[in-house]
Amino acid sequence: MLSNYPPGVTGNEYAIAGGRDIEVEYECSYEAKMVTLHTALDLVQKSPTIELAMQELVAQSEVVDRTVCGFKGIVDAEEFDNTAVLTCPWCGVEREIPVYPETGENSE
Ligand SMILES: [Zn+2]
Repeated sequence: MLSNYPPGVTGNEYAIAGGRDIEVEYECSYEAKMVTLHTALDLVQKSPTIELAMQELVAQSEVVDRTVCGFKGIVDAEEFDNTAVLTCPWCGVEREIPVYPETGENSE
């Protein structure tokens, strides 16, 4: 079949055709940076402005805790070539997970 694509390119590639919208069951094990509300409020109360409090928060790595995100649920994803690309609704990290194309089920 004639096409305008270079040899080896079919036009079905993700970059050209895009993915298929699916929903996948996702459990997030990403280790995210977390700040407790107590820590954030404490910094806001000590700082003259919220902007300065936020700057201090970013600068002080010791006030930032690390914890596993722990999200578990159904998320919208884009599937291509048995891989689902999704963004975790809790921690915002972008993940690629293998899926079964027929069902959209997580095959990890
Ligand atoms: Zn997450």
